[in-house]
Amino acid sequence: MIHDLIRPELKDFVPYTTNQVSYRVKLDANESPFDLPMSVRKKLADIIMEGPELNLYPDTDSIELRKTLSAYWGVDMEGIVVGTGSDQLIQVLVNTFVGKGDKVVYPVPSFGMYKIDTVIGGGSTVEVALKEDNGFEYDIDEFISKAKDEKAKMVILCTPNNPTGNLLSLRNIEKICSMCPNTVIVVDEAYAEFAEESAVELLPKFENLIILRTLSKAYGLAGIRCGYSLSGKAIADEINKVKPPFNISSLSQLVAKLVFEEREEIDRRIKYLTEQRTYLAEELKKIEGATIFPSGANYILVKLPDAQGVAKELERRGILVRSYGDPVLSKYIRVTVGSKEQNDILLEELASILASA
Ligand code: PMP
Repeated sequence: MIHDLIRPELKDFVPYTTNQVSYRVKLDANESPFDLPMSVRKKLADIIMEGPELNLYPDTDSIELRKTLSAYWGVDMEGIVVGTGSDQLIQVLVNTFVGKGDKVVYPVPSFGMYKIDTVIGGGSTVEVALKEDNGFEYDIDEFISKAKDEKAKMVILCTPNNPTGNLLSLRNIEKICSMCPNTVIVVDEAYAEFAEESAVELLPKFENLIILRTLSKAYGLAGIRCGYSLSGKAIADEINKVKPPFNISSLSQLVAKLVFEEREEIDRRIKYLTEQRTYLAEELKKIEGATIFPSGANYILVKLPDAQGVAKELERRGILVRSYGDPVLSKYIRVTVGSKEQNDILLEELASILASA
């Protein structure tokens, strides 16, 4: 009965799932190995003891946090919108611009929520394959021609791309923004801190550009659910009409602001993780049977003879990595770059599994 009531486009819908099992080392969700800096914990504890006013609704406009972000990026705070993770902003963007049947172009393989949010929003999906034999590189001309042919409302690009790790150049972002002026170009930069490259400098040039960032990865704040978008005021005004009120809890706003002010500590952590990425990549290359892709993010895509079997055996040994069901990615696992200790455990177990295969 309930099944008959569901919107037809959601009948065969496959939701986003996570692997909820116990573990020794968790390298499956591109989280940071670092918890809240001690200095922030102390400040937070003081604020909580003074009275955090949790009896009141939070600031629906996240003004203090947006001021901090605006000062950091040197952009007008009117162009910043804060979301319950960048996840929420992807959904809000689709709901703002994409009507029934409107086309959304996005890469495959990439972050699964682009498809899910388009389908839930009633839009129509247009997938552009990043080709395996081309190292999953973006062919921007293909995105441009698809966007034009399909009269797409929105193009979503992910750089560094999840899960392949490759980057889309600023020149190519500029090209698609200028060639598709009637399309909203969303650039998801969830992992950009690890690549030291951002399209933010293009914002003054293009009113159709919107950039998504998150505090879940480099800032180590996946647990507070906080992301933000950077765009011109025109786009921000529109998405503010759709964004649910009070979407970021007072505590999340507070923690995000305090952590953002700890730049030195965050920069040290990013440097450490990018060094660990180099270390992990070099060591993975030495493992017989493993082929890796260069990554600008905090994860590495690894091709293996029996990727799914290896992922299962790693899980049995308490090490979680990401594996995939779809035909192209089923040959790969994605490993998050962890601490040196975590990476060494992964390397040791992976080598032992492959040696006994
Ligand atoms: N974009 C990409 C590419 C991601 O990989 C993720 C999380 N895995 C997100 C957005 C969403 O992150 P969050 O909602 O935690 O900000």
